[in-house]
Amino acid sequence: MLILAPLFAARMVKPIRALQDGAREIERGNFAGRVAIKTDDELEELGESFNHMAAGLKQLQELKNEFTFIAAHELRTPVTAIKGFLSMVFEGDAGAISEKLKQYLDPVRQANDRLIQLVNDILEIARSEAGRLKVEVSPTDMEKCVRDILIELKPLADEKKISLQYEAMPDIPQVLADELRLKEIITNFVSNAIKYNNEGGWVKISHELKDNILVTSVADNGFGMSREEQKKVFEKFFRSDAAKIKSIQGTGLGLFITKELVEKMGGKVWFSSEEGQGTTFNFSLRIAS
Ligand code: ADP
Repeated sequence: MLILAPLFAARMVKPIRALQDGAREIERGNFAGRVAIKTDDELEELGESFNHMAAGLKQLQELKNEFTFIAAHELRTPVTAIKGFLSMVFEGDAGAISEKLKQYLDPVRQANDRLIQLVNDILEIARSEAGRLKVEVSPTDMEKCVRDILIELKPLADEKKISLQYEAMPDIPQVLADELRLKEIITNFVSNAIKYNNEGGWVKISHELKDNILVTSVADNGFGMSREEQKKVFEKFFRSDAAKIKSIQGTGLGLFITKELVEKMGGKVWFSSEEGQGTTFNFSLRIAS
Protein backbone atom coordinates (compact mmCIF):
# COMPACT_ATOMS: atom_id res chain seq x y z
CA MET A 1 0.00 0.00 0.00
CA LEU A 2 2.75 2.39 1.03
CA ILE A 3 4.55 1.89 -2.28
CA LEU A 4 1.42 1.99 -4.46
CA ALA A 5 -0.20 5.03 -2.85
CA PRO A 6 2.34 7.64 -4.15
CA LEU A 7 2.27 6.04 -7.60
CA PHE A 8 -1.51 6.18 -7.66
CA ALA A 9 -1.50 9.80 -6.48
CA ALA A 10 1.06 10.78 -9.16
CA ARG A 11 -1.16 9.21 -11.83
CA MET A 12 -4.08 11.36 -10.69
CA VAL A 13 -2.19 14.62 -10.41
CA LYS A 14 -1.54 15.17 -14.13
CA PRO A 15 -5.19 14.79 -15.28
CA ILE A 16 -6.43 16.93 -12.39
CA ARG A 17 -3.94 19.65 -13.33
CA ALA A 18 -5.12 19.44 -16.97
CA LEU A 19 -8.73 19.88 -15.81
CA GLN A 20 -7.73 22.79 -13.58
CA ASP A 21 -5.91 24.52 -16.48
CA GLY A 22 -8.90 23.90 -18.76
CA ALA A 23 -11.30 25.37 -16.16
CA ARG A 24 -9.06 28.43 -15.82
CA GLU A 25 -9.14 29.00 -19.59
CA ILE A 26 -12.95 28.79 -19.52
CA GLU A 27 -13.02 31.30 -16.67
CA ARG A 28 -11.03 33.66 -18.93
CA GLY A 29 -13.67 33.23 -21.64
CA ASN A 30 -11.58 30.99 -23.88
CA PHE A 31 -13.82 28.06 -24.84
CA ALA A 32 -11.65 26.77 -27.67
CA GLY A 33 -9.20 24.74 -25.53
CA ARG A 34 -9.64 21.01 -24.86
CA VAL A 35 -8.06 18.72 -22.26
CA ALA A 36 -6.28 15.54 -23.36
CA ILE A 37 -6.52 12.83 -20.69
CA LYS A 38 -5.58 9.32 -21.69
CA THR A 39 -5.83 7.24 -18.52
CA ASP A 40 -8.32 4.66 -19.76
CA ASP A 41 -10.53 5.10 -16.69
CA GLU A 42 -13.11 7.43 -15.11
CA LEU A 43 -10.67 10.33 -15.31
CA GLU A 44 -10.55 10.03 -19.09
CA GLU A 45 -14.38 10.00 -19.13
CA LEU A 46 -14.39 13.12 -16.96
CA GLY A 47 -12.01 14.76 -19.44
CA GLU A 48 -14.36 13.91 -22.31
CA SER A 49 -17.34 15.37 -20.41
CA PHE A 50 -15.31 18.49 -19.76
CA ASN A 51 -14.55 18.82 -23.48
CA HIS A 52 -18.25 18.41 -24.34
CA MET A 53 -19.12 21.13 -21.86
CA ALA A 54 -16.45 23.46 -23.37
CA ALA A 55 -17.83 22.78 -26.88
CA GLY A 56 -21.36 23.58 -25.66
CA LEU A 57 -20.21 26.82 -24.06
CA LYS A 58 -18.38 27.80 -27.24
CA GLN A 59 -21.55 27.27 -29.24
CA LEU A 60 -23.53 29.38 -26.76
CA GLN A 61 -20.94 32.15 -26.98
CA GLU A 62 -21.18 32.12 -30.78
CA LEU A 63 -24.98 32.29 -30.62
CA LYS A 64 -24.81 35.19 -28.16
CA ASN A 65 -22.37 37.04 -30.43
CA GLU A 66 -24.51 36.43 -33.48
CA PHE A 67 -27.61 37.67 -31.64
CA THR A 68 -25.86 40.80 -30.36
CA PHE A 69 -24.45 41.51 -33.80
CA ILE A 70 -27.81 41.18 -35.57
CA ALA A 71 -29.70 43.16 -32.89
CA ALA A 72 -27.17 46.02 -32.94
CA HIS A 73 -27.04 46.00 -36.73
CA GLU A 74 -30.82 46.17 -37.02
CA LEU A 75 -30.97 48.98 -34.44
CA ARG A 76 -28.44 51.07 -36.35
CA THR A 77 -30.74 51.70 -39.32
CA PRO A 78 -33.61 53.36 -37.41
CA VAL A 79 -31.35 55.43 -35.13
CA THR A 80 -29.38 56.68 -38.13
CA ALA A 81 -32.64 57.56 -39.89
CA ILE A 82 -33.81 59.51 -36.81
CA LYS A 83 -30.50 61.40 -36.81
CA GLY A 84 -30.93 62.31 -40.50
CA PHE A 85 -34.50 63.54 -40.12
CA LEU A 86 -33.69 65.48 -36.94
CA SER A 87 -30.83 67.27 -38.73
CA MET A 88 -33.24 68.23 -41.50
CA VAL A 89 -35.72 69.60 -38.96
CA PHE A 90 -32.95 71.57 -37.21
CA GLU A 91 -31.77 72.96 -40.54
CA GLY A 92 -35.29 74.32 -41.11
CA ASP A 93 -36.23 71.95 -43.97
CA ALA A 94 -39.66 71.48 -42.37
CA GLY A 95 -40.12 75.20 -41.73
CA ALA A 96 -38.74 77.52 -39.08
CA ILE A 97 -38.54 75.94 -35.63
CA SER A 98 -39.52 77.88 -32.55
CA GLU A 99 -37.30 78.17 -29.46
CA LYS A 100 -39.82 76.08 -27.55
CA LEU A 101 -39.70 73.25 -30.13
CA LYS A 102 -35.90 73.42 -30.15
CA GLN A 103 -35.88 73.00 -26.38
CA TYR A 104 -37.90 69.80 -26.77
CA LEU A 105 -35.92 68.48 -29.72
CA ASP A 106 -32.42 69.07 -28.32
CA PRO A 107 -32.64 66.28 -25.70
CA VAL A 108 -34.09 63.97 -28.39
CA ARG A 109 -31.04 64.63 -30.56
CA GLN A 110 -28.64 64.08 -27.63
CA ALA A 111 -30.35 60.86 -26.57
CA ASN A 112 -30.30 59.60 -30.15
CA ASP A 113 -26.58 60.40 -30.49
CA ARG A 114 -25.91 58.39 -27.32
CA LEU A 115 -27.93 55.51 -28.73
CA ILE A 116 -25.91 55.60 -31.96
CA GLN A 117 -22.67 55.54 -29.95
CA LEU A 118 -23.90 52.62 -27.87
CA VAL A 119 -25.07 50.63 -30.90
CA ASN A 120 -21.76 51.26 -32.69
CA ASP A 121 -19.74 50.23 -29.61
CA ILE A 122 -21.77 47.04 -29.16
CA LEU A 123 -21.28 46.22 -32.84
CA GLU A 124 -17.52 46.65 -32.49
CA ILE A 125 -17.44 44.38 -29.42
CA ALA A 126 -19.50 41.71 -31.18
CA ARG A 127 -17.16 41.96 -34.18
CA SER A 128 -14.13 41.66 -31.94
CA GLU A 129 -15.51 38.63 -30.06
CA ALA A 130 -16.39 36.91 -33.30
CA GLY A 131 -12.88 37.61 -34.64
CA ARG A 132 -14.39 39.92 -37.26
CA LEU A 133 -12.67 43.13 -36.17
CA LYS A 134 -10.56 43.85 -39.24
CA VAL A 135 -7.64 46.24 -39.34
CA GLU A 136 -5.37 46.70 -42.33
CA VAL A 137 -2.11 48.45 -41.56
CA SER A 138 -0.13 50.60 -43.96
CA PRO A 139 2.29 53.53 -43.50
CA THR A 140 0.20 56.27 -41.88
CA ASP A 141 0.86 59.91 -41.03
CA MET A 142 0.42 60.09 -37.25
CA GLU A 143 0.83 63.87 -37.00
CA LYS A 144 -1.94 64.49 -39.56
CA CYS A 145 -4.28 62.10 -37.73
CA VAL A 146 -3.67 63.87 -34.41
CA ARG A 147 -4.15 67.33 -35.94
CA ASP A 148 -7.41 66.25 -37.68
CA ILE A 149 -8.80 64.90 -34.41
CA LEU A 150 -7.77 67.99 -32.46
CA ILE A 151 -9.75 70.15 -34.91
CA GLU A 152 -12.77 67.86 -34.52
CA LEU A 153 -12.61 67.85 -30.72
CA LYS A 154 -11.85 71.55 -30.21
CA PRO A 155 -15.54 72.50 -29.74
CA LEU A 156 -15.86 69.84 -26.99
CA ALA A 157 -12.73 71.20 -25.27
CA ASP A 158 -13.87 74.84 -25.68
CA GLU A 159 -17.15 74.05 -23.91
CA LYS A 160 -15.11 73.26 -20.76
CA LYS A 161 -12.35 75.80 -21.47
CA ILE A 162 -9.82 72.97 -21.69
CA SER A 163 -6.60 73.71 -23.53
CA LEU A 164 -5.53 71.10 -26.08
CA GLN A 165 -1.75 71.09 -26.44
CA TYR A 166 0.11 69.14 -29.09
CA GLU A 167 3.84 68.67 -28.68
CA ALA A 168 4.51 67.34 -32.17
CA MET A 169 8.03 65.97 -32.76
CA PRO A 170 9.96 67.17 -35.78
CA ASP A 171 9.99 64.53 -38.54
CA ILE A 172 7.62 62.05 -36.93
CA PRO A 173 8.07 58.81 -38.86
CA GLN A 174 5.05 57.13 -40.39
CA VAL A 175 3.52 54.37 -38.29
CA LEU A 176 2.03 51.03 -39.35
CA ALA A 177 -1.66 51.60 -38.74
CA ASP A 178 -5.15 51.53 -40.18
CA GLU A 179 -5.82 55.26 -40.63
CA LEU A 180 -9.54 55.20 -39.79
CA ARG A 181 -8.94 53.00 -36.76
CA LEU A 182 -6.00 55.14 -35.63
CA LYS A 183 -8.29 58.16 -35.69
CA GLU A 184 -10.83 56.25 -33.56
CA ILE A 185 -8.08 55.43 -31.05
CA ILE A 186 -6.84 59.04 -30.79
CA THR A 187 -10.44 60.30 -30.59
CA ASN A 188 -11.22 57.99 -27.69
CA PHE A 189 -8.14 58.94 -25.65
CA VAL A 190 -8.45 62.69 -26.28
CA SER A 191 -12.23 62.84 -25.80
CA ASN A 192 -11.87 60.91 -22.52
CA ALA A 193 -9.14 63.31 -21.39
CA ILE A 194 -11.59 66.17 -22.05
CA LYS A 195 -14.68 64.46 -20.61
CA TYR A 196 -13.04 63.31 -17.37
CA ASN A 197 -11.47 66.69 -16.74
CA ASN A 198 -12.32 69.86 -14.83
CA GLU A 199 -13.19 73.19 -16.38
CA GLY A 200 -10.03 75.03 -17.32
CA GLY A 201 -7.92 71.84 -17.38
CA TRP A 202 -5.40 70.76 -20.00
CA VAL A 203 -4.78 67.84 -22.34
CA LYS A 204 -1.32 67.22 -23.79
CA ILE A 205 -0.50 64.93 -26.68
CA SER A 206 3.12 64.00 -27.23
CA HIS A 207 5.28 61.35 -28.92
CA GLU A 208 8.44 59.50 -28.10
CA LEU A 209 10.51 57.37 -30.43
CA LYS A 210 11.96 54.16 -28.97
CA ASP A 211 13.93 52.16 -31.58
CA ASN A 212 11.32 51.16 -34.14
CA ILE A 213 8.33 52.03 -31.95
CA LEU A 214 6.46 55.32 -31.71
CA VAL A 215 4.84 55.90 -28.32
CA THR A 216 1.99 58.41 -28.26
CA SER A 217 0.83 59.78 -24.91
CA VAL A 218 -2.37 61.61 -24.05
CA ALA A 219 -2.02 63.24 -20.64
CA ASP A 220 -4.59 65.22 -18.68
CA ASN A 221 -4.86 66.91 -15.30
CA GLY A 222 -8.41 65.70 -14.77
CA PHE A 223 -10.22 63.45 -12.31
CA GLY A 224 -7.80 60.51 -12.40
CA MET A 225 -8.91 57.13 -11.05
CA SER A 226 -8.55 55.30 -7.74
CA ARG A 227 -6.30 52.22 -7.56
CA GLU A 228 -9.32 49.92 -7.48
CA GLU A 229 -10.81 51.58 -10.55
CA GLN A 230 -7.53 51.38 -12.42
CA LYS A 231 -7.64 47.56 -12.24
CA LYS A 232 -10.90 47.53 -14.20
CA VAL A 233 -10.27 50.26 -16.72
CA PHE A 234 -10.12 47.99 -19.79
CA GLU A 235 -13.13 45.90 -18.77
CA LYS A 236 -16.33 46.12 -20.80
CA PHE A 237 -18.88 48.59 -19.37
CA PHE A 238 -16.49 49.87 -16.67
CA ARG A 239 -17.23 53.45 -15.59
CA SER A 240 -15.53 55.21 -12.69
CA ASP A 241 -17.49 56.66 -9.78
CA ALA A 242 -16.57 60.18 -10.89
CA ALA A 243 -18.01 59.48 -14.36
CA LYS A 244 -21.26 58.23 -12.83
CA ILE A 245 -21.57 60.87 -10.10
CA LYS A 246 -20.95 63.72 -12.53
CA SER A 247 -23.36 62.12 -15.06
CA ILE A 248 -20.80 62.23 -17.87
CA GLN A 249 -22.16 60.47 -20.93
CA GLY A 250 -20.43 57.28 -21.97
CA THR A 251 -20.84 53.55 -22.53
CA GLY A 252 -17.75 52.15 -20.80
CA LEU A 253 -16.88 50.33 -24.03
CA GLY A 254 -14.46 52.74 -25.69
CA LEU A 255 -11.24 51.70 -23.94
CA PHE A 256 -11.98 48.00 -24.38
CA ILE A 257 -12.34 48.52 -28.14
CA THR A 258 -9.37 50.91 -28.31
CA LYS A 259 -7.08 48.38 -26.64
CA GLU A 260 -8.22 45.64 -29.05
CA LEU A 261 -7.57 47.92 -32.02
CA VAL A 262 -4.07 48.93 -30.89
CA GLU A 263 -3.15 45.31 -30.20
CA LYS A 264 -4.47 44.26 -33.61
CA MET A 265 -2.06 46.77 -35.13
CA GLY A 266 0.79 45.18 -33.20
CA GLY A 267 0.97 47.79 -30.43
CA LYS A 268 0.31 48.04 -26.70
CA VAL A 269 -1.72 50.31 -24.41
CA TRP A 270 -0.79 51.30 -20.85
CA PHE A 271 -1.57 54.13 -18.49
CA SER A 272 -0.84 55.79 -15.19
CA SER A 273 -3.36 57.67 -13.11
CA GLU A 274 -3.68 59.40 -9.79
CA GLU A 275 -7.02 60.21 -8.25
CA GLY A 276 -7.66 63.95 -8.32
CA GLN A 277 -4.42 64.61 -10.23
CA GLY A 278 -4.83 63.28 -13.74
CA THR A 279 -4.24 60.41 -16.12
CA THR A 280 -1.84 59.58 -18.94
CA PHE A 281 -2.73 56.96 -21.53
CA ASN A 282 0.08 55.71 -23.80
CA PHE A 283 -0.04 53.54 -26.88
CA SER A 284 2.73 52.20 -29.05
CA LEU A 285 2.78 51.48 -32.77
CA ARG A 286 5.53 50.12 -34.99
CA ILE A 287 7.07 52.64 -37.33
CA ALA A 288 6.96 51.97 -41.05
CA SER A 289 10.53 51.47 -42.26
P1 ADP B 1 -16.76 55.85 -21.69
O1 ADP B 1 -15.91 57.08 -21.77
O2 ADP B 1 -17.73 55.73 -22.82
O3 ADP B 1 -17.39 55.66 -20.34
P2 ADP B 1 -14.30 54.30 -21.92
O4 ADP B 1 -14.16 52.82 -22.09
O5 ADP B 1 -13.64 55.16 -22.92
O6 ADP B 1 -15.86 54.55 -21.84
O7 ADP B 1 -13.75 54.65 -20.48
C1 ADP B 1 -14.14 53.85 -19.37
C2 ADP B 1 -14.07 54.64 -18.09
O8 ADP B 1 -12.70 54.89 -17.74
C3 ADP B 1 -14.72 56.01 -18.15
O9 ADP B 1 -16.11 55.94 -17.92
C4 ADP B 1 -13.98 56.76 -17.05
O10 ADP B 1 -14.57 56.46 -15.80
C5 ADP B 1 -12.58 56.14 -17.08
N1 ADP B 1 -11.63 56.98 -17.85
C6 ADP B 1 -11.28 56.82 -19.14
N2 ADP B 1 -10.38 57.75 -19.50
C7 ADP B 1 -10.16 58.52 -18.41
C8 ADP B 1 -9.32 59.66 -18.13
N3 ADP B 1 -8.53 60.21 -19.07
N4 ADP B 1 -9.36 60.17 -16.87
C9 ADP B 1 -10.14 59.62 -15.91
N5 ADP B 1 -10.96 58.57 -16.11
C10 ADP B 1 -10.97 58.01 -17.35
